[in-house]
Amino acid sequence: MAKKKQFVVIGLGRFGGSICRELIKIGHEVLVIDKDEQKVSDFSNIVTHAVVANSTDENTLRSLGVRNFDFVIVAIGDNIQESILTTLLLKELGIKNVWVKAKNDYHHRVLEKIGADTIVHPEKDMGRRIAQQMSDDKIIDFIELSDEYSIVELLATPKLNKKSLVDLNIRARYGITILAVKKGNDINISPEPSYEISEGDLLIVIGNNRDIKRFEDEVM
Ligand code: ATP
Ligand code: ATP
Ligand code: CA
Repeated sequence: MAKKKQFVVIGLGRFGGSICRELIKIGHEVLVIDKDEQKVSDFSNIVTHAVVANSTDENTLRSLGVRNFDFVIVAIGDNIQESILTTLLLKELGIKNVWVKAKNDYHHRVLEKIGADTIVHPEKDMGRRIAQQMSDDKIIDFIELSDEYSIVELLATPKLNKKSLVDLNIRARYGITILAVKKGNDINISPEPSYEISEGDLLIVIGNNRDIKRFEDEVM
């Protein structure tokens, strides 16, 4: 497991709530803050600390010792003003990793100016992911490393059956690398050049998006 870290999640809507449950599942310590008493009580059994408070109150943030946490996630969606004020206070307290959910581009720009470290657009990002997955039946999952580079999980088609990496000469021809191959629950990290692909293998591939696409179009 990843090293245990301490997180603060502010706002327990669907987004903040989901982050919180996942962090707990991974084994981290989580302090949750919400001004809604019911939301806080829903989470009080699973998290390390759950507090009913308004995050726009500077004294509250200080007294909760928010400064000592590794990450703070501001998951206040609808009230842009409170999201901005909360972020400002967190940055003024000197917190290094402040992640904030933005509702729109204006919100994003303000957050950037006041020093939010990472700004996320969950609906927009998830929409893009889902569109990618729907439009390409070979891509099972992907991680965007930058605008140009990704790691994708490709499902091997019958066309690839019994072909080895060296037969296909993948890296030399396409400039992409197969990092690992998943077969059911087994995973083979850095497969040998002689590795023979079977239909249904999940190929975990890293490379330039154009090269990955070319590989898919020509070989799969
Ligand atoms: P979802 O992730 O479900 O889409 P949302 O984007 O609709 O959520 P909101 O409902 O606006 O987000 O807020 C999420 C949570 O944040 C709510 O539970 C709300 O009570 C809490 N919240 C909003 N403002 C504050 C604040 N200033 N201090 C503490 N909690 C707050
Ligand atoms: P390279 O310089 O491209 O690494 P190499 O001369 O070291 O090649 P091998 O590692 O034996 O040769 O592999 C032969 C060829 O098989 C590689 O050039 C590459 O095209 C392909 N190949 C081997 N392993 C992978 C991999 N993990 N992902 C993609 N292609 C691979
Ligand atoms: Ca919402």
